[in-house]
Amino acid sequence: MTLTTRFAPSPTGSLHIGVARTALFNWLYARHHEGRYLLRIEDTDHARSTDAAITSILDCLTWLGLAADEPPTFQSSQESRHVEVAMNLLAKGLAYRCYCTPSELEEMRIEAKASGRPTLYDGRWRDLDPAKAPPGVKPAIRFKAPRDGETVIQDQIQGDIRIENSQLDDMVLLRSDGTPTYMLAVVVDDHDTGVTHVIRGDDHLVNAARQSQLYLALEWPVPKFAHMPMIHGPDGGRLSKRHGAVGIDEYRKMGFLPAALRNYLLRLGWSHGNDEVISDVDAIKWFDLDAVSKSPARFDLAKLRSLNAHYLRAADVKSLVELLRPLFEAEGIFLCEDLIARLEAGIPSLKPRVSTLVELVNAARFYVMQRPISLNADATKLLNSDARIVLAMLIPNLADLEVWKEEAIESTMRAAAKTMGIKFGALAQPTRAALTGSITSPSLFEIMAILGRSEVINRLQDCTVDASKSTSQQPGAELNS
Ligand code: GLU
Repeated sequence: MTLTTRFAPSPTGSLHIGVARTALFNWLYARHHEGRYLLRIEDTDHARSTDAAITSILDCLTWLGLAADEPPTFQSSQESRHVEVAMNLLAKGLAYRCYCTPSELEEMRIEAKASGRPTLYDGRWRDLDPAKAPPGVKPAIRFKAPRDGETVIQDQIQGDIRIENSQLDDMVLLRSDGTPTYMLAVVVDDHDTGVTHVIRGDDHLVNAARQSQLYLALEWPVPKFAHMPMIHGPDGGRLSKRHGAVGIDEYRKMGFLPAALRNYLLRLGWSHGNDEVISDVDAIKWFDLDAVSKSPARFDLAKLRSLNAHYLRAADVKSLVELLRPLFEAEGIFLCEDLIARLEAGIPSLKPRVSTLVELVNAARFYVMQRPISLNADATKLLNSDARIVLAMLIPNLADLEVWKEEAIESTMRAAAKTMGIKFGALAQPTRAALTGSITSPSLFEIMAILGRSEVINRLQDCTVDASKSTSQQPGAELNS
């Protein structure tokens, strides 16, 4: 039988980063063992499942590189099969009709709580004659769970987990409206699709015991279970919105790369020596369940950022430009050949300064901005009237320059500063502000060489318009400070 894993998200929201790790581990385990990796959308909770969530989950999985090997299946489309299995159990006396009303069940819970007993269903219809059924009450179908002994889950991560059967009540298989429960549907679907390994969060550990009982009653082989510890936030609590972004879509928007996220999620609860940067090829070669930690992993945004920075630095420039393209387009900046050439030339010096694509967009924007470019507050402050005069005086020097290359630009700028009788910084800083709209950037001469002579002169000219308003015709002393 082909080793088969599956990822089975409930489409009630966007793909949670912890749930994405479950997808990754299932994907890797199947790849490592040359098996199949399936995707099942568990949309039986009609009230909470949404089409938007389904679209978003599928989209995020594809973006993350974790699309399934086969088209996704939808649990809701198998309802008649779930009902059929429940009816078979009923026919065999392994399930029964329960006519309890919601208020009766509520009473049962309250009484159990008051007397300190576990709030389990007491099995009152288990052996009752259905002829005693109250008129007009539609029954639920409950599983006749074993009452004695214990259920043992041989968990691939947690080891043997033993649960007293007295702690597991007769769960509902079909609700009184005839719809199947998750507990039934998951067993039937995993069996019908040949799932051999169920790898998921340890919040499903008790469910595994109930599901094992159902497999045994159906005389189906029980899949191997592997329950991973949850991901915690920096404060030790279960990772949730209060810790910040938890949706994969949010990390995508923040400018994280899929490869960096995969690498980071892999290291959250799984290790291979001290290796931090692990390629997909090595991950597939090395991944197995025995190296999954039994204790919860802590989410560390700084670590994710530093891994992302690593992947950004390692990415080739052309593919980075392609990743930046939609982000610029969203701002109304469309990349023509000239702008692409500027980005390709400028990105190598920008890469080491950023950790995310969004930071790269911000750092590279000046290369592709339409004139007149916008100036940030620091640049605006720096470009006072004296600075603008300096720029006006620089322009003819640049216009006369024979070769537009970094070294030639540098010596012309230095000579111009000398002629103007100002410190080099008093010329370089306003030039940088006028060309980039900010006061920090990689080498000024590199930027000037990449932007090209006419763009440089035009941008400088855009900033000299205030020069006429100045009373002084000489650069002010403040520029020398
Ligand atoms: N649909 C369940 C969830 O999203 C997962 C069920 C399973 O993996 O068995 O929590």
